[in-house]
Amino acid sequence: MKFQPRASHFIDGEYVEDTNGAAIEVIYPATGEVIARLHSATPAIVEQALNSAKNAQAAWAALSGTERGRILRRASDIMRERNYDLSVLETHDTGKPIQETTVADATSGADALEYFGGLAASLTGEHIPLGGGDFVYTIREALGVCVGIGAWNYPTQIACWKGAPALACGNTMVFKPSETTPLSALKVAEILVEAGAPKGVYNVIQGYGDVGASLVSDPRVAKVSLTGSVPTGRKVYAAAADGMKHVTMELGGKSPMIVFDDADIENAVSGAILGNFYSSGQVCSNGTRVFVQKGIKEAFLKRLSERLAHAKIGDPMDEDVSFGPMVSENQMNIALGYIEKGKAEGARLVYGGERIERDGYFVQPTVFADVTDNMTIAREEIFGPVMSVLDFETEEEVMARANDTEFGLAAGVFTNDLTRAHRIVAGFEAGTCYINTYNLAPVEAPFGGSKMSGVGRENSKLAINHFSEMKTVYVSMNDVEAPY
Ligand code: NDP
Repeated sequence: MKFQPRASHFIDGEYVEDTNGAAIEVIYPATGEVIARLHSATPAIVEQALNSAKNAQAAWAALSGTERGRILRRASDIMRERNYDLSVLETHDTGKPIQETTVADATSGADALEYFGGLAASLTGEHIPLGGGDFVYTIREALGVCVGIGAWNYPTQIACWKGAPALACGNTMVFKPSETTPLSALKVAEILVEAGAPKGVYNVIQGYGDVGASLVSDPRVAKVSLTGSVPTGRKVYAAAADGMKHVTMELGGKSPMIVFDDADIENAVSGAILGNFYSSGQVCSNGTRVFVQKGIKEAFLKRLSERLAHAKIGDPMDEDVSFGPMVSENQMNIALGYIEKGKAEGARLVYGGERIERDGYFVQPTVFADVTDNMTIAREEIFGPVMSVLDFETEEEVMARANDTEFGLAAGVFTNDLTRAHRIVAGFEAGTCYINTYNLAPVEAPFGGSKMSGVGRENSKLAINHFSEMKTVYVSMNDVEAPY
């Protein structure tokens, strides 16, 4: 099998196998063909990975930030050199078109390695004068062993978004990818070693939820960073709380995108396409509730349908293809189930709505109009190519409806009225907001959610605070005064 890795796990600088673990079949979503066979981690593998990370941590943290940063930046360069091969692997792992994976996956992972590699040397504490010569200084310290648990939609990116800041701060990591997409994190681990990362600094073990759960509850682990759904986030957060561990939770969403009458309609349609159909809709921050002001509703829907007709659906390895399959049969069935609910609950189907008759797990880009706030498709995260268009009349009304959700990951507004744009954004209950654009996530900017969509932030300088802590040191230059 072309994509069969040398072994299932990467621990202590090398590939490791234990065939006693439950079988994991990796399926190419465009054909349904099995492209690799792996094994879930046994308790012995979990033990080996945690020991390796624990043993490697002190020496890694003792390197200077410059040295750690150099290794991360070298890994970033290697990722960029191998971008095409890594993208082919990512396309086979996820089904996402090569047109996307060559620009959004290994490249985004490389950005994170480069950015946090660059920051590593500047991570310091501070000096706080107390008067009379006394002072405090703070030492920024690594947390220890960090666990990363990934979702299946951006496996390379997630492995790097968690690994890069963790390693920059002097932590070591055990990363568990989703069992649906287990291949690319192994490549990230290989590349880090090739770039000079000492053994055990970044380990990858495969497994289902039970493996993730055993990592989270282990006393050797200081921090857990999860990308996944809200139900899993709840479980992982609770398990981490038991050991008072640090957490970052990047969870799901049902984000609103508001399009006012005065918006540039082409840009708004582009935003709605990017925010609903990129990666076949399998993006956590997608703006799946598109509120369109009544005056431009029909023009918006017409232009959207015209543009969707130009989506090139097919073999994701064809560079002209812009819309691929969903990641698995299971996800496809979930999306098709929501489409049926949309029809049954009275939404108006204006585009798509069917499985595509070909091998693999293809669902048409689907648009429902006349969606109302209580319909299932407007309330639950679908994680598939299904857009709900809702009507609105006034700013006040749409603001309340946009925020009427348990989620708070992202939110966007399209308008040419500058003051209104900022007023709307100030009112959004969401961690990541967009004005006249949608779904950007550059490494320089904080990314994450409010409400049920998460805790903490990834990317940017803020991520450093989630992977390190301060030790406060009081220094007296004077005699110690005691009352007796
Ligand atoms: P899941 O929540 O099902 O799984 C996420 C990861 O957690 C998987 O690796 C999973 O393993 C693991 N896991 C499951 N149960 C446990 C447990 N009890 N303890 C520890 N780990 C566990 O999400 P999906 O993989 O289905 O991904 C889709 C979800 O991810 C969507 O809801 C989406 O919104 C969210 N997401 C959020 C992003 C963000 O940045 N906010 C980005 C991308 C996705 P296994 O797969 O083997 O069960």
